[in-house]
Amino acid sequence: MLAYLDHHASTPCDTAVLAAMAPWWSEHCGNPSSRLHRPGLEAAAAVERARGQVARALAMPSEAVLFTSGATEANNLALKGIAEAALERGERRRRLVTLATEHRAVLDPLAWLARHGFPLTVLPVQPDGRLDPALLEAALGDDTLLLSVMAANNEIGVLQDLAAIGRLCQERGVLFHCDAAQAVGHLPLAMGELGIDLLSLSGHKLYGPKGCGALLRRRGVALAAQQHGGGQEQGLRAGTLAVPLLVGLGAAVEGALADREERGRRLAALRDQLWRGLEALGGVQRNGSATATLPHNLNISLDGVDGGRLHRLLRRQLAVSSGSACSQGSPSHVLAALGRSRRQAAASIRFGLGRATSEADIQRTIAAVAEAVAELRSAV
Ligand SMILES: *Cc1c(COP(=O)(O)O)cnc(C)c1O
Repeated sequence: MLAYLDHHASTPCDTAVLAAMAPWWSEHCGNPSSRLHRPGLEAAAAVERARGQVARALAMPSEAVLFTSGATEANNLALKGIAEAALERGERRRRLVTLATEHRAVLDPLAWLARHGFPLTVLPVQPDGRLDPALLEAALGDDTLLLSVMAANNEIGVLQDLAAIGRLCQERGVLFHCDAAQAVGHLPLAMGELGIDLLSLSGHKLYGPKGCGALLRRRGVALAAQQHGGGQEQGLRAGTLAVPLLVGLGAAVEGALADREERGRRLAALRDQLWRGLEALGGVQRNGSATATLPHNLNISLDGVDGGRLHRLLRRQLAVSSGSACSQGSPSHVLAALGRSRRQAAASIRFGLGRATSEADIQRTIAAVAEAVAELRSAV
C-alpha cells in the first residue's frame, strides 16, 4: 500500500464535505445570479452560507470574501488588482516587495508586473527560511506599494512572523498581501489582527475540493477586476459561481477548524517521530526552521545519494515530492534560497502529513527511506 505523504500538494476531500456538496450538482441546479425564482435564490443562499463560513475562519465579515478558482487566481487578482488600481488613481508608490521563497503563483505575477512598470524587490531569507526583519525594514520605503509574504511555505513549512510584518506595513503605509494557502485550516489566523490587507486561500489544501478558493480583502482596499463579465463578486471576479465547490469550500474550512488543534498536535508528534527515524540514518539535513514551521511538514536533504534515483526507488512505496508539485523538473527555488546546492535540492524529500496519516505510515516511511538510502549509498 502506498503511504500518501504529499498533503502540501493536495489533501483528500473530506467525506462530510463530499456529502455537503452532493445535492448542489444536479438536484439544486439554480444559478445564484438568478434572483427571480426559488432554485436561484436557494443557490445564492448556499453561496452566502459558504461565504460566512470562510469569513469566520479568518475573523472577517462576509463582504471581505471574493470567491475564486483557487489560490493561484486569488494571488493574481490581489497582486495585479492592487497594481492596476494604483495605476488608475495615479499612485506614486509603485514598488512591489516579496521573498525569494514565495510560491510561483506569487513570484510569476510579480515578475509579470515588473515587466509592466512596477519595480520588484525579492528579498533573500535566512538559512532557516525566515525573513530577516532588518532587511524588510530597509526594503519598505516610501515608494513601496505592496509586500507579499506567505503565511506558511508549501515546501519547507516555515512560518513568518505575520504580526510583526503587518505592523511594519501599517507604519509604512504599505499594503500587505499574504498567500495563506498552506496555513488556513492548519493554524489560527485572524486576518485583521495580523494587519493583513489581502489573503489568498485554496480549497484543496484544507480537505476541500480542487478548483475553488478565495481572496479576502480588508474594507477599503482598492482592487481592479482581472476578469470581466457578469459582475459577480462585487464586480471584481466575473463568472458564474461554482456553487457545489463553494459549498464544499465552506464545509471544508469549518471541518478543518474543528479538528485543527487536535490534528496539529497529533501530526507534530508523528512528524517528530519521522524526523528522529530519518536523522538516525546519518547525513541527513533538515530544510527550514525546526520550530517556526507547520506541524505536519518535514523537508530533508540526504547526503551521498542521487535525487533522481532516490525518488524512483521511493515512489513504489511513498507518495512524496522533491520540492513543490508546481515546479516539476526544475530544482526547488526554495531550497536554493536556503543555500542548498542543486544536487542537495534534488536529493531532498518533502513530507506532508495529513488527517489520515497513521503511526504505521511513519514506520513504513522510515523503513522505505532507509532501504533506498542504503541501496544508493552502497552503490557509490
Ligand atoms: C497550492 C498553493 C497555491 C496554488 O493554489 P491553487 O488553489 O492550486 O491554485 C498557491 N500558493 C501556495 C502557498 C500553495 O500551497
